[in-house]
Amino acid sequence: MKESNLINKLAIDGGIPVRDEMLPYGRQSLYKKDIEAVVDVLQSDWLTTGPKVGEFEAAFADSVGVEEAVVVNSGTAALHAAMYAIGISSGDEVILPAITFVATANCVLYQGGIPIFADVDPDTMLIDVTKIESKITSKTKAIIAVDYAGQPCDYDALRNICDKYGLILVSDACHSLGATYKSGLVGTLANLTTFSFHPVKVITSGEGGMITCSDNDYAIKMRNFRNHGITTDHRQRALKGAFLYHMEELGFNYRLSDFQCALGMSQLHKLEEIVSARQSIALKYNEHFTHIDGAHSLKLFDDVTHAYHLYVIKLDLESLRVNRDTIFAALRAENIGVNVHYLPVYQHPFYQSRGLEDNLCPVAEVEYDRLLSIPIFPSMSDQDIGEVIEGLNKVINTYHL
Ligand SMILES: *Cc1c(COP(=O)(O)O)cnc(C)c1O
Repeated sequence: MKESNLINKLAIDGGIPVRDEMLPYGRQSLYKKDIEAVVDVLQSDWLTTGPKVGEFEAAFADSVGVEEAVVVNSGTAALHAAMYAIGISSGDEVILPAITFVATANCVLYQGGIPIFADVDPDTMLIDVTKIESKITSKTKAIIAVDYAGQPCDYDALRNICDKYGLILVSDACHSLGATYKSGLVGTLANLTTFSFHPVKVITSGEGGMITCSDNDYAIKMRNFRNHGITTDHRQRALKGAFLYHMEELGFNYRLSDFQCALGMSQLHKLEEIVSARQSIALKYNEHFTHIDGAHSLKLFDDVTHAYHLYVIKLDLESLRVNRDTIFAALRAENIGVNVHYLPVYQHPFYQSRGLEDNLCPVAEVEYDRLLSIPIFPSMSDQDIGEVIEGLNKVINTYHL
């Protein structure tokens, strides 16, 4: 066979892949200063719950423009702490979108509450604000909005619903650190906002999470909650020369170590740079998807800026001979590390075994079959971006009707 045929032939069918090595869908960007910041702490007296905890919290609160930031050891712990702070307990209902990471729903169950799934808007995959009110009952306590992919939800509409029914608004902003809605920064738009510092997220501390709020009572509750429900921490006691501590509530060990706080704080200094690198990759993709037949990007609102934790496209399955799973496999074979975010939460076996029916959120289910996340991370080169586009063209053209 001629070389050109081998190049046109899909790698999944034995052709030559577009790239030699797998390009991941996301990865961390670490800088020399980040490493120095961690090493400094490793050489200090406090590996955990030392001075870096408060410094990171203060720097984060400052950068978002809120009163309080409480650091924990994952985005999941942040969600759990938020549910605890607002008093979710047995039988309370919390409304959240069907398409999100499982932790958004699991945190409600941790507190004995009931996650109620609302359908999503097919153009943005964000919670459909017109489908929330029909889910509200006398047991509804809160809404968790998820800024899917990094685009803020319609917070004005969400606030109106919450005010009308006396609900608490929680924002799961694990994708959207650095994004804005109208004139507000993510982190200021809800009663409580949760962030994740997992390595694929906007900034990282290895593992880690944060909750922002303007309510000091919530912050006190969450600081106790992350430390077993004990009202003083180890360092506070050491500084006072005291040994006695009191556990007043049932909490967890959700503390983030000092060297991780140092890493998170150092990464925070790079936030603007990181987000603008993501945005400029997205701009290149956006241009491409206005003239590719077979796939399109999600709708971007006019009055927001997007943090692009993910760049999600939707396949026009009507014009393709194969389904998303085949396109996914073909792109992976080309060494383009695509991914899928997310299976509707209630379609996971755990939720199915609790009796949740299929067809609960029909839009989420239909749109899920079209979703594909393509690689986006700050250190991607123009060549990487070009190869993603080349791989998509190759695969989509081959399977186009
Ligand atoms: C990553 C993520 C979480 C959980 O964060 P971890 O730090 O991995 O625990 C929660 N919600 C959403 C939407 C996420 O993407």
